Amino acid sequence: MIPTIDYIQTRFDEYNERFFNGSLPPIPIRLSHAKGFLGKVTFTRKPANPFALRPFARYQNTDFVLRINVRIDLPQEVVDDTILHEMIHYYIAVNQWNDTSTHGRLFRREMARINREGNRHITISHRLSDAEQAQAHIRKGRVVAIVTFADGRTGVKVLPKQIRHILAWDKQARRTFAPSPLRHSSINPSPITNIEWYYTDDGYFAKYPSSTALRIYLIDDISPFASDHSPLQNAHRLSLADGKVRLILNPDNNLRW
Ligand SMILES: [Zn+2]
Repeated sequence: MIPTIDYIQTRFDEYNERFFNGSLPPIPIRLSHAKGFLGKVTFTRKPANPFALRPFARYQNTDFVLRINVRIDLPQEVVDDTILHEMIHYYIAVNQWNDTSTHGRLFRREMARINREGNRHITISHRLSDAEQAQAHIRKGRVVAIVTFADGRTGVKVLPKQIRHILAWDKQARRTFAPSPLRHSSINPSPITNIEWYYTDDGYFAKYPSSTALRIYLIDDISPFASDHSPLQNAHRLSLADGKVRLILNPDNNLRW
């Protein structure tokens, strides 16, 4: 599964109650496409206020962010254990405790407790097992349309990798969502102003079903495609003209058609 922010938040709340007596304060959750980690809790360490309740503390950990990787489609068990692993880091840091190392005595004690109480399989490694590694390396290319509507919203459509489907869908979508005074119905909330075509192996798009149906999935939060970590940054582009589809290769990606 590729977790959403809602999914992570639900698990976080549930585990917080179950394993930490609800003691963990809310934390901002972000999705990451970076390579090299499954999850991460980041925070800044500030010199402690000498007039605070803990006058002998030299540092104070603040500005926590929980990041969960969504680059790889993983079994739900692994996603959940990753969330728990990061929650242990958060638990230690938010309480301003000092562990003997990154996964030191405190971390291992909490990990063993939760594995026992919850019958979980949290490990100290952030790395994937061999089987997950192998699965993660199967590169699945997807044809993706990024649709811009006149009202500013963005939509996503994943299509089967067949030229005739791509051409037919592009034509049909532009015609169906054409700017027209007669089309102010609930079915056509807004005309399409642009369709960009991509061919990508980014796991971000795994959550969208691949079909030829004229169903476009709207992105309801801020478009991830405008950010530095856009799921499209390594994508090849597809250019549609004169009834043909041309593949414009991204030099940073050796994904083949
Ligand atoms: Zn860790």
